[in-house]
Amino acid sequence: MSTDPGHIPAAKPVIGEDEIEAAVRVLRSGMVIQGPEVAAFEEEFSALVDGRHCVAVNAGTSALLLSLVAAGIGAGDEVIIPSFTFAATGNSVALTGATPVFADIDPETFNLSPESVEAAITPRTKAIMPVHLYGQAADMGRLGEIAGKHGLAIVEDAAQAHGSTWEGRPVGAFGLAAAFSFYPTKNMHSLEGGMVVTPDAGFARTIRLLRNQGMERRYANEILGYNLRMTDVSAAIGRVQLTKLRGWNERRQANAAKLDAGIGSLGGVRVPAVAAGASHVYHQYTVRVPAGRRDALQEHLTAQGIGSAVYYPTPTHRLPPFAGTAQDADLPETLRAAAEVLSLPVHPALTDAELTRIGEAVSSFDLGD
Ligand SMILES: *Cc1c(COP(=O)(O)O)cnc(C)c1O
Repeated sequence: MSTDPGHIPAAKPVIGEDEIEAAVRVLRSGMVIQGPEVAAFEEEFSALVDGRHCVAVNAGTSALLLSLVAAGIGAGDEVIIPSFTFAATGNSVALTGATPVFADIDPETFNLSPESVEAAITPRTKAIMPVHLYGQAADMGRLGEIAGKHGLAIVEDAAQAHGSTWEGRPVGAFGLAAAFSFYPTKNMHSLEGGMVVTPDAGFARTIRLLRNQGMERRYANEILGYNLRMTDVSAAIGRVQLTKLRGWNERRQANAAKLDAGIGSLGGVRVPAVAAGASHVYHQYTVRVPAGRRDALQEHLTAQGIGSAVYYPTPTHRLPPFAGTAQDADLPETLRAAAEVLSLPVHPALTDAELTRIGEAVSSFDLGD
C-alpha cells in the first residue's frame, strides 16, 4: 500500500489507540485464550443479532465450518450456495464432505436468486447458505419460505454484513446459524476472528464443544473437536470495534450516497442498487462496468492514485478445487457479474474531497461505447 498522501486505498483497517490499549491490557492480565474478554465479546455481540446465542471462534471460515458440522451436514449432503462469493463459503461446505451446489444471483443485488435456489433443490439438499454480499442483506423472506417449504436449514454467511437488516431484522437472526468474520478489512475486526450466532442453546453448546477439542470442562472430552478458539487479545479488539460499528456503518452509507451522486446515473457505470426490504452497510461499494471496459476503468483509477478491487474475478464454481460437474453449472448472471464488477473505496476514513475525486474520476472515464 502506498503512503503517497494523494493515494486513496481501497480499504483502511483501523488499529487505533483504543485497540492497542485493549490488547496491551489483555497481555498484561495473563489471561489470553478464550477467557473473560471472549465471554464479554460474545455477550455484547448478541445485542447486534436480536439477543441470539453467540460463540466466538478464530475466523469467519471456522464459524461457517462449525455451523455446518453442528447442523449434521457431511458426506452425501448438498448445500446450496452462491458461486459469486469469497471462496470461504464453498470451502466450508466442501471441507465437511458435503457437495456445494451453486445457484445463480440476482443481477441487481448480487445476492442469491430465490428462483435459482429453488431450481437447485434435490432430495440430498440439506441447507441453503445465503451470503449477504458486499453488506446487503439477501432476500431472507423468499429464501426463508423456500427453506420452510422443503425442510432445509439456513446457515447465513454474514461475514460482510455486520449490522445489515432485512425488513428491519438484523442479518444473523434468520438462520439455524449464521457466521460473521472479523478479518481486518471487514466492517469491524478482531485481527482474525469469527462468530457463530444461533437461536438454539443446544446448538450453541455443540459449537462451544467443537471449537475446543470437544470439551467444556478440561479433559472431559465429550465429542470430537477442533482447536478454533479466539484469543482474548482478539476479543478485546473486537469489543472496541463493536462500539464503533454503528457509526462506521453510517459513514459507509453516507459515503455511498456521495459516490452515487458523484458518479451519476447517466453514464454506463451502474451504481449499487438496494433492494426493497434490505439495508446495505457497504462492506464494498461495487459498480458494474459494461462491455469489457472494467479493467480499463481500474487502470484509469490506478493512474489517478485511486485504489479499487475486483470481488470476485473468478466465481467459486470455476476455481480448480471445485472442478468437476460444478464447472458446467449454468450461472449466466454470476459470470456476467465477475466480468463487470469493480469495488471502489467507501471506508469510513475517506474525506469529502476524496469522495469527490473518486466520483469525478469514474464519471470522466470514457466507456467508449
Ligand atoms: C471474509 C469472508 C469469509 C471468511 O472470513 P475469514 O474470517 O476470513 O475466515 C467468509 N465468507 C465471506 C463472504 C467473506 O467475505
